[in-house]
Amino acid sequence: MESHFTINKSPVEIENTNLKESMLAENISWADLLDQTIKRNHGYLNICHEALDNHSQEDMNNKTAIKFIGKSWPENNTDIKNISYGELLYQTKMLMNGLLRLGLAKGDVLFSLSPRKPESYLVALASLRAGIVFSPLFSVFGPEPIAARMIKGNAKALFTLASFYHKKIAPIRKSLNQLTYLIIFDDDGSAKNIPNYIDFKTLLNIHLEKNDRIDLIKTSADDLALLHFTSGTTGNPKGAMHVHSSVVYHQLSGKWALNFKKDDIFWCTADPGWVTGTSYGIISPLCNGVTLIIDEAEFNAKRWYEILEKFKVTSWYSAPTAMRMLMKAGEELPKEFDFSSVQFAASVGEPLNPEVIWWVKKNLGISLHDNWWQTETGGIMISNFSVMAIKPGSMGKPLPGIEIELVKLNDTLLEKIMEPDIEGQIAIKAGWPSMFRGYLGEDERYLKCFKDGWYLTGDLAKKDEQGYFWFVGRADDVIKSSGHLIGPFEVESVLMEHPAVLEAAVIGKPDLIAGELVKGFAVLKKNYTPTDALRLDIMSFARIHLGVSIAPKEISFVDNLPKTKSGKIMRRLLKARELGLPEGDLSMLETT
Ligand code: ATP
Ligand code: MG
Repeated sequence: MESHFTINKSPVEIENTNLKESMLAENISWADLLDQTIKRNHGYLNICHEALDNHSQEDMNNKTAIKFIGKSWPENNTDIKNISYGELLYQTKMLMNGLLRLGLAKGDVLFSLSPRKPESYLVALASLRAGIVFSPLFSVFGPEPIAARMIKGNAKALFTLASFYHKKIAPIRKSLNQLTYLIIFDDDGSAKNIPNYIDFKTLLNIHLEKNDRIDLIKTSADDLALLHFTSGTTGNPKGAMHVHSSVVYHQLSGKWALNFKKDDIFWCTADPGWVTGTSYGIISPLCNGVTLIIDEAEFNAKRWYEILEKFKVTSWYSAPTAMRMLMKAGEELPKEFDFSSVQFAASVGEPLNPEVIWWVKKNLGISLHDNWWQTETGGIMISNFSVMAIKPGSMGKPLPGIEIELVKLNDTLLEKIMEPDIEGQIAIKAGWPSMFRGYLGEDERYLKCFKDGWYLTGDLAKKDEQGYFWFVGRADDVIKSSGHLIGPFEVESVLMEHPAVLEAAVIGKPDLIAGELVKGFAVLKKNYTPTDALRLDIMSFARIHLGVSIAPKEISFVDNLPKTKSGKIMRRLLKARELGLPEGDLSMLETT
């Protein structure tokens, strides 16, 4: 799909970049880079060490690492906590010593179930520093998805809040056989009613003699560090295992794709329960020495605008679903705010429809840079860099050192697609430092993802003459109609260009003649009524823009689209419901 406009960058924007376009073609030896980093550390590599200790020479002790905005802000404008790099390192070391004294050891798995609180960031960093495998759970999960992940992950320890324990852990505690250490942050004074728990504050404040203090557990590059569950958009969530060498990629990809500068005030809106919220919501920004904004509260359009303005956010990383929620809140609200501090903004997680890019540009004056990656890749793989002109609808180009081809599988042969604008599966040359090292308990599935040294991502895309990648859809979601392969993204983007449509999703519906026909679901904007006349108008709009063979043959109006808790449209569920089939794993369905 070629877009009708391109957003060109001003000379100032191009000057103000960490990455020159020529670097995209550079060959990078990840093995050499890793070697150098390990040598600098005299033989070890540890994510927390790279994130916090490397700054000491630069006298960063007093610089704010985390600016934590509490829920009661702005009504209570003192509900803000600044934690400096020096303080963060000190507290992380204390907590690491506490965890080790407790009996936890390298390789044990610690789960964290917590809303965005300073303590949960400390737990993440201290676990990594201790060589404990850190596995974050999204705090809105109910007891069942929590139990499923903790049992699969052999959870030895859990960090959570007292209030969460009673609602979410007490009902499943008996099934968590491996759970030895329950670490509780007593947020509401109810910890006293919990059997056998360890108090977080006590762990943090253990007083050790200097000689007894451990500075760091010297992990190796291949030691397990993080266990991240995928979003469950296409089926059961998978446990992707990541190792400490990832940090080399976290640091560089943040510098290149998010254009991190030392003075940045960076806000990643993703929750650390997801890979984006740890790779780029904790590790990468700290490695790059920027100030991280963390908001405890849930989404609220006015609050988000206030945060961007009041805290002078310079760099912003969010998701299409959040942008569509801003759109829903209307065009008047952003007029009350000044967004001029924002120098760079990016989006990830789902296809970023051009309509969203134009809306944000028009109403916030901000250029959104799409980027693409997966839980499995551990870091950003394809990106619209600050230096490049943006082609709305395109994901951008591969990062330096990341080799990507579009491929077709013919029986067992891997065929690379060399001509432009032909769709194929995104394949990444294996060996980048943040590549996942397994699916927990699913070795065969893991091995099936690789062919001839390439990782097969399961996503389809096209590449244009200038080397920009265009998302087509997940292989599972692609529609086969009268001999055409139709990517949902292209159709959904056009539906969203209709003035009445706020959000759209399309699926393939079995059809005797065409094989599948395209069926669309549309959520209307405020002030539009679902009538047959409007349905016909949207269908004819789609036919004009897409052609008869690609435009939806049916459209249903819905109040909401089913989404995962991380905000991704669950097309498999729309399809199952449409066809009256079993709905499958719904643990990830957003229900509020
Ligand atoms: P599961 O693997 O459990 O079905 P998931 O694939 O949604 O869930 P994630 O790893 O969180 O889990 O998401 C990665 C997927 O999100 C990618 O494979 C891709 O389909 C989609 N995605 C991420 N970023 C983009 C983007 N910029 N444009 C289009 N799709 C994207
Ligand atoms: Mg996936």
